Amino acid sequence: MNEVEELKVFISNRDSTCDDCREKLGRKPWITLTREKGALCLSCGDLDHLIFLPSGDAALTRRARKHSTLSAVVLKWSRARNRYERQGLLVEEQALKTAEEECLADEDVRSRQRERDALRRQESDLQYLEIFASRIRELFPGCPKGRELTIAEHACLKYSGRVGRSASAKRLDEEAVRLAVRAHIRHVETDYDRLLARGYDRSDARAHVRGIAERMLESWKAPE
Ligand SMILES: [Zn+2]
Repeated sequence: MNEVEELKVFISNRDSTCDDCREKLGRKPWITLTREKGALCLSCGDLDHLIFLPSGDAALTRRARKHSTLSAVVLKWSRARNRYERQGLLVEEQALKTAEEECLADEDVRSRQRERDALRRQESDLQYLEIFASRIRELFPGCPKGRELTIAEHACLKYSGRVGRSASAKRLDEEAVRLAVRAHIRHVETDYDRLLARGYDRSDARAHVRGIAERMLESWKAPE
């Protein structure tokens, strides 16, 4: 990289005096070092028109630097780490304003993007729901009319852990559809939920309703 070395401003860790105007700068003054004149206050260093942008927002910092004709990195000696650490950037006020506007615009673009993504996801969810429902109708033609939508909704929407959203259900294989239908029958057409509510163990409750659930599943396979 052939960049011009960036200007540095140091937050001094001792009392300093400006080598040009001789002003006493007090404790921890901000100074810049020049080869000819030594330590200068920012006023003598012609940097006092710049404003300080603390580190922390990388995008804002990058943009502010880009828009600033003159900028200087602010460093402070860390005794603990035994090195200079970057505190932020001195930039032109107008550059910072422009940078802030750009970042806000970006933020806007990103939130619009998020909205579009959410909408697309909704649409694909709906499409998937319809496909899932018609697959249920195809495999279980005896299923009560409209029930396939309830089952598909329950199985597909939102809950990634449920059968409808699993990888196999994505492929819409028969087993995944069958599992969704069976779960529906168990919950809606049998005493399963009531048994669970009464404190039955899950596998006991399943065993209890298995017969009726399987018979209904079989009957749904046949056309009405
Ligand atoms: Zn000075």
